[in-house]
Amino acid sequence: MSPHTFLPCHPDFTAAMQIKLARQYSLDDWAAPAFQALIKEPLHKLTLEDAEHMGIVTYYKLVELKMKIMDHRIGLAFYPAEITHSFGCRDEVYCSKLWNSFWWGGFGKQLLHPENNKTPGAIIACLRCSHWMANG
Ligand SMILES: [Zn+2]
Repeated sequence: MSPHTFLPCHPDFTAAMQIKLARQYSLDDWAAPAFQALIKEPLHKLTLEDAEHMGIVTYYKLVELKMKIMDHRIGLAFYPAEITHSFGCRDEVYCSKLWNSFWWGGFGKQLLHPENNKTPGAIIACLRCSHWMANG
């Protein structure tokens, strides 16, 4: 029986353990999915044991990438996308205020939510469906 079959069912099998075993036994197809799983995991849920399993370089790269993603999200949430008014827009000032309100109160709030796991595009799509977006 290969480790691919039985290990993922073991209760102590974590993504960090998967990275350790991928490195130790050259299980190349294990590293990328494990790293992707760790990217989605909140940083505070990673333990010292996880860091030890991953090794200092992998742990550093994981934290660095998570910080870059967070910086990018903060930038996206804070600075509204430029608005383009249609010919039918009757009040560009009011329309722009609505847009900024939507951006910060709808999109930005969801993007920065601690449990958010949606991409910015998925959030926009959800908000479009809920008719939150101003028609400007
Ligand atoms: Zn407008």
